[in-house]
Amino acid sequence: MSFKLKRNQLVERLVAEEVIHSKEVIRAMGMVPREEFVRREDKGSAYVDTPLPLFKGQTISAPHMVAMMCGALELRVGERVLEIGAGSGYHAAVISEIVAPKGSENPGHVYTIEIHKLLSEFAKDNLNRTSYSRAVTVINGDGSKGLPEHAPYDKILVTAAAPEVPKPLIDQLNPSGILVVPVGDKHAFQVLRVLKKKQDGTIEVKDLWGVAFVPLRGEHGWKD
Ligand code: SAH
Repeated sequence: MSFKLKRNQLVERLVAEEVIHSKEVIRAMGMVPREEFVRREDKGSAYVDTPLPLFKGQTISAPHMVAMMCGALELRVGERVLEIGAGSGYHAAVISEIVAPKGSENPGHVYTIEIHKLLSEFAKDNLNRTSYSRAVTVINGDGSKGLPEHAPYDKILVTAAAPEVPKPLIDQLNPSGILVVPVGDKHAFQVLRVLKKKQDGTIEVKDLWGVAFVPLRGEHGWKD
């Protein structure tokens, strides 16, 4: 079976399971070739709905988690998005399909930070090969401090688990912006927290589901 067919079947299943609700997320997940963002030996498993190992003990998130986070972010064309934890670059590519679709008159942009140099190079290679580098910029560094040079952002997501919500990320969010971040224990037992910044600057917090992410490192992450 071709990758395209497997990809369509996976997306159809996620829609049937009510993991994906929006047509923008359906379109984006149906476009991005996940097989180009996993290790060569894992290409055959690219459309199994599971995380897969990358390098340095890190993982590419499961497709259902990517879809759920994209839904929670309420992404729109033209938005500027910051991702902490580029990993393979896959999630950033999916977001860019929504905020900066090809041919858009008002394309948004995705900035994604990765603390491991090797993984930031992996993400860059994958995004270059698949032409998503036009809408995604990969930066090597500690994203727990955000990325002040391109702030503010309409949406921010953290794809690693933080001990608590890093304050710089709240500061770098636009009014009406949304921040999605897993918060909790260092290994598993975290909750996916959604923070909405209102026009007057006050923050509304909602906890969605239990999740299991690798730990966020850096200044506002886990130290040991
Ligand atoms: N979004 C990724 C999955 C990322 S896994 C994808 O689509 O493939 C989480 C990533 O966060 C790991 O690659 C890890 O190295 C990175 N990470 C952990 N702490 C970080 C920090 N402080 N700044 C930037 N990246 C960090």
